[in-house]
Amino acid sequence: MTANDPSHDPEWVAYRHPQPAESPPEIIVPDAIPADDRVWVPVGNRVWFRPLCLSASRGYWVNLLKVQSAGVLSRHRHPQPVHGYVLKGRWRYLEHDWVATEGGYVYEAPGETHTLVVDTGVPEMITMFQVNGAMIYVDPDGAVTGFDDVFTRIDKCRRHYASNGLGAAYVDRFIR
Ligand code: FE
Repeated sequence: MTANDPSHDPEWVAYRHPQPAESPPEIIVPDAIPADDRVWVPVGNRVWFRPLCLSASRGYWVNLLKVQSAGVLSRHRHPQPVHGYVLKGRWRYLEHDWVATEGGYVYEAPGETHTLVVDTGVPEMITMFQVNGAMIYVDPDGAVTGFDDVFTRIDKCRRHYASNGLGAAYVDRFIR
């Protein structure tokens, strides 16, 4: 027994009972930034997302957004909060004077309408977003031009994976 082996800690004991029957299985994604580029679902000119958790039962999704072109990504309104964590590069909203930079965390409040842009000189941006409810796409006056929710995201994944050899069912592992 060595003093620095933590498995000898008397607290190093697993919970002894079954998990609740209704609790869905966990999702483990060893390569959140995927080794296989086919996992990235294209959603624009050099813009992709990759799903991590598609919560159909709770109406939210967690994904990585990847952008390799400068410009406007989208103008959108959030009916519910969003949490973001920047893994690479930087981005900002035209409506605010802050910049989301690598390693940073962003909370986006319900009711916010903003325009996501990536500036020239950023070769690649990757951000993890947890988006609740929907993204409502709008024009500069707030008129609705479209939306995304967890179901449109599932649909985009399914169609992309069906067409690129991963198979439509590849998305199922992310759905809860
Ligand atoms: Fe947003």
